[in-house]
Amino acid sequence: MAKLIVSDLDVKDKKVLVRVDFNVPIKNGVIGDDNRIVAALPTIQYIIDNNGKAILFSHLGRVKTEEDKKELSLRPVAERLSELLKKPVTFVPATRGKELEDAINNMKDGDVLVVENTRFEDLDGKKESKNDPELGKYWASLGDLYVNDAFGTAHRSHASNVGISSNMPQAAAGFLMEKEIKFLGDAVENPKHPFVAILGGAKVSDKIGVISNLIEKADKILVGGGMTYTFYAAKGLSIGKSLVETDKIDLAKQIIAEAGDKLVLPVDNVVATEFSNDAPHKVVEGDIPDGYMALDIGPKSVAEFKDVLKTAKTVVWNGPMGVFEMPNYAKGTLEVGEALGDLTDATTIIGGGDSTAAAKQLGIAPKITHISTGGGASLEYLEGKELPGIAAITNK
Ligand code: AMP
Repeated sequence: MAKLIVSDLDVKDKKVLVRVDFNVPIKNGVIGDDNRIVAALPTIQYIIDNNGKAILFSHLGRVKTEEDKKELSLRPVAERLSELLKKPVTFVPATRGKELEDAINNMKDGDVLVVENTRFEDLDGKKESKNDPELGKYWASLGDLYVNDAFGTAHRSHASNVGISSNMPQAAAGFLMEKEIKFLGDAVENPKHPFVAILGGAKVSDKIGVISNLIEKADKILVGGGMTYTFYAAKGLSIGKSLVETDKIDLAKQIIAEAGDKLVLPVDNVVATEFSNDAPHKVVEGDIPDGYMALDIGPKSVAEFKDVLKTAKTVVWNGPMGVFEMPNYAKGTLEVGEALGDLTDATTIIGGGDSTAAAKQLGIAPKITHISTGGGASLEYLEGKELPGIAAITNK
């Protein structure tokens, strides 16, 4: 379903409330990675260029105590945004009240204002995170139009996304949200075939929903990472000391039966005696020997995965193939990432923090069609769930 987009709105002279995702890593007031701020620029710039007033809302981290507020103010983000936009940005250290209302009323066309961390409201009965009806209504009353550009929180029903939307005559998607919906939506609903999903990471339980939804849609599902060994156990293979979720073995058996040869498990693994980069390690095929744990997929599996990827037209990748934080077990993840970067005739989509970090480490990020900014949200999208933040955006 096509959604109303910010470019469909007439923003001139209007107070445009925008939910952005400025949830960036900050330590001692210094921003570690400003990717999310950069990703929000097109929508903000559009409002500036078209003489609207951009009033930006975002959460930052989790605010549980009064003390947390010191580390979790959006002030440094507003300063960085000002540098990126090359223009002054007003920061209001409040989430409600006269100071905020006056600052908004004093805005001129083309001005930008950042409201303090929406989760400061969580100290009082989790008003933001539990979508307190009064809070959504109050925030909505501060503006004329509403734009949601925060894909990363679209899987949550908060006052600053669903709450404001439901108190406005219409809600539009920002350009980042539009892009996320387009690429993830096309992959799930209308992929070009062969469609290959690569799923890794620690736990089967996190990815079960995605695998179930993609069994019908994908041509191949390549599995790596810690979740592999629950599937190994389901097949009756020995797993040694490898990661396993014993309560998910039956479910894994069901998936294996349903997926047939669509599900591709690694044929070999790098196994080590301990969960340590320096532990003695070797490559084994099939069964994992007693006293060993599997920490990466092996070279034969990498070759097989690459072979499947060669002809792919749509690829979705979420989760590392092994303990890629340790150099001795990073090869599977890095080689799969490299193979993805080499695909010139396919739509390639990466979701999840670890796969994104691997893509950046490899320098292949510019070659990837779309790197999703939402970890949890992208997984839920791939599970085929309706995300409340997206459902609340007006359909065209
Ligand atoms: P997730 O958050 O579920 O995407 O999982 C990512 C984490 O899984 C990373 O920190 C990896 O180190 C870890 N991981 C990947 N493969 C394995 C494995 N074979 N054994 C233990 N942990 C793993």
